[in-house]
Amino acid sequence: MQNTATPTHCPYCALQCGMNLTPAPDGTVEVSERADFPVNRGALCGKGRTAAAVLAPGVRLTSPLVRDVGGTLVPASWDEALGRIAAGLGRTRAQHGPDAVGVFGGGGLTNEKAYTLGKFARVVLGTSQIDYNGRFCMSSAAAAGIKAFGLDRGLPFPLEDIPKSGCVILVGSNLAETMPPSLRFFTELKENGGTLIVVDPRRTKTAEQADLHLAPRPGTDLALALGLLHLVIAEGRVDEEYVQERTVGWEDARAAAMAHWPEYVERITGVSVPQLRETVRLFCEPESAMVLTARGPEQQSKGTDTVGAWINLCLATGRAGRPHSGYGCLTGQGNGQGGREHGQKADQLPGYRKLDDPAARAHVAEVWGVDPDSLPGPGRSAYELLDALGTDIRSLLLMASNPVVSAPRAAHIEERIRSLDFLAVCDVVLSETAELADVVLPVTQWAEETGTTTNLEGRVLLRRRAVTPPDGVRSDLEVLHELAARLGVEKGFPTDPEEVFEELRRASAGGAADYSGITYRRLAEENGVFWPCPAPVEPAGEGEGTPPLGEAAAGHPGVPHGDAAPAHPSTPGSDATPARPSTPRDDATPANTGTPRDDATPANTGTPRDDATPANTGTPRDDAPAVHPGTPRLFLDRFATPDGRARFVPVSHRATAEEPDDEYPVLLTTGRVVAQYQSGAQTRRVAELNAAAPGPFVELHPRLAARLGAAEGDPVAVVSRRGRAVAPARITHAIRPDTVFMPFHWPGEGRANTLTNPALDPTSRMPEFKTCAVRLEAVER
Ligand code: SF4
Repeated sequence: MQNTATPTHCPYCALQCGMNLTPAPDGTVEVSERADFPVNRGALCGKGRTAAAVLAPGVRLTSPLVRDVGGTLVPASWDEALGRIAAGLGRTRAQHGPDAVGVFGGGGLTNEKAYTLGKFARVVLGTSQIDYNGRFCMSSAAAAGIKAFGLDRGLPFPLEDIPKSGCVILVGSNLAETMPPSLRFFTELKENGGTLIVVDPRRTKTAEQADLHLAPRPGTDLALALGLLHLVIAEGRVDEEYVQERTVGWEDARAAAMAHWPEYVERITGVSVPQLRETVRLFCEPESAMVLTARGPEQQSKGTDTVGAWINLCLATGRAGRPHSGYGCLTGQGNGQGGREHGQKADQLPGYRKLDDPAARAHVAEVWGVDPDSLPGPGRSAYELLDALGTDIRSLLLMASNPVVSAPRAAHIEERIRSLDFLAVCDVVLSETAELADVVLPVTQWAEETGTTTNLEGRVLLRRRAVTPPDGVRSDLEVLHELAARLGVEKGFPTDPEEVFEELRRASAGGAADYSGITYRRLAEENGVFWPCPAPVEPAGEGEGTPPLGEAAAGHPGVPHGDAAPAHPSTPGSDATPARPSTPRDDATPANTGTPRDDATPANTGTPRDDATPANTGTPRDDAPAVHPGTPRLFLDRFATPDGRARFVPVSHRATAEEPDDEYPVLLTTGRVVAQYQSGAQTRRVAELNAAAPGPFVELHPRLAARLGAAEGDPVAVVSRRGRAVAPARITHAIRPDTVFMPFHWPGEGRANTLTNPALDPTSRMPEFKTCAVRLEAVER
């Protein structure tokens, strides 16, 4: 065990705050400030400060568990547990075909694990049925970003640009609770004279910081954005020159917006016309302005169109792709960004490539050493996959996700999971989903293994191993390696994260999310690198293959030439990768990654501007290819579309999938509290966090409470068409009288997702977590 502090990153949300970890002699691990990481500059929220508590043996799993003949989960050897999983998945595949085996991943997996899980599903199992819980997070923003800009990177600029903006409209984010250290950027925005506008049906801690708080009726953000665009047009605030030069499709979007009169929008949203006018004034008057969205507008059955409407507002006012301006999405999960780039999504291959693109299939198949025709096509989205369990999908391998708590219509999904022929779960704790498994594998955690994540800014980060894992646990990569071997694939599933990353670099080369120029060494030295970051390209006519990056980076700070690793074999292939030690050293010199394909075209994301810090600050060899500095800011010169112009997407208001009626007259919206994270599988096991947020509650307006006859703390039943949840009343003026709020971190009687509606967005396949119709019932004590 190391006794010195190891710099690394928090295991939870997408800020990926920097922290130091120091093992103590008593076996505990101290979390301390790490001021050098620009995202949090030493600040941590309570979840981050207490994150090491989940490393304790009494909290986490340290032995595989298998279900005995009596139906009880009992400890077993790794050999027995792995054997049962290989037999269970293999049996289903033999009896029902490869698509009867499902794989479900998570936005908390490192890039290396997400990449390997996607490869495992397609190469070893041959199944198309893989998706991940990130589908429930930011998929609508991703879909809208690709439509408009040709590329999805949550934030196309660093968080440090926020304080330099003139105005920020924050739509459906309670970041003061979900990612508290980020609030500093908005405080600085206001100190610099900028304006913060918060759009949220609740007067949250974040809304309390706003200069202007708009509280629309849940599910009407699309109409709100259209009403604002209408006023922008009517008041002559369109940036005509920008629209002409940098966009396509304005006339149709303009016509759609003009159909949304302010008075009509006021009726739909409840936001008054004067508030709409004031928002437009505050947004349009400064030289720079941004719109940032989070789950509020995104987790809707019209989430893609809703985000598209906010992007249209940014385009019409000439904001996107300009300094300290534009549209961005605040991704939620720790590796929600990287998790959607490297192949664990139903329709995707590494590098943010499309699975149905023949060129993408050929490129990735070459890296994997397989026939492109052997790769399955796109599969089902997350909810559709879970809904097919026990019917089309008979067995499931699940990693780092807890859908029994986090999926919409959760009681139904729990029933589907129970109906499986076979379920294997890899997790650090016995989550509510793991409790239903036939086999549970205890895996290593963030502090016990090295790997990369990509935060909400598109900044690729190195998480370092800081402590020795306890006996009895293995890494997810080891699990996939062992299962691949038992299912007949002996090679191509390394257990060393750095070796996996080297392969990921090759697989991502030329894709939209191009990591080919990023190495573990650079990540350590530069405190993260923004993608896209293509590998250096050797000038035409030079020798075979790319020289080692250490050599290419001659003059790069801190990279002695002599440390350069020998060149990797120039023909990539899963079986051509030299063996590496199974336990990576943090100071290990990364291997060179071989030759990027000649036809690998870097994503067309614009030229890095002079405000991007180049990594290569020395004097390179005259003929040495330059090391790409990474791309903190996208779209400054062109968008990632074939012609470099952004696309307006014409959208119109439509109702939510479930509007209130006589039977279900109230709207339910769901969200998070500061002391818990996602399904709560980890944070509910931390005493300090549990004390701060011990259980669910129903937040309701005094008028609704009076009608119900409920006092503070009284149990209230919330009933939707999908089920019933009971939790204590929390009565407040901070919520609209037509709406109730429940946090979704808990299982059991107070499980909010028992109620939520799985109506899907037609493009992103995002369920409508944010709005459904419910009725309230008093509960006898
Ligand atoms: Fe930072 Fe998020 Fe971790 Fe809190 S949970 S310390 S905000 S990364």
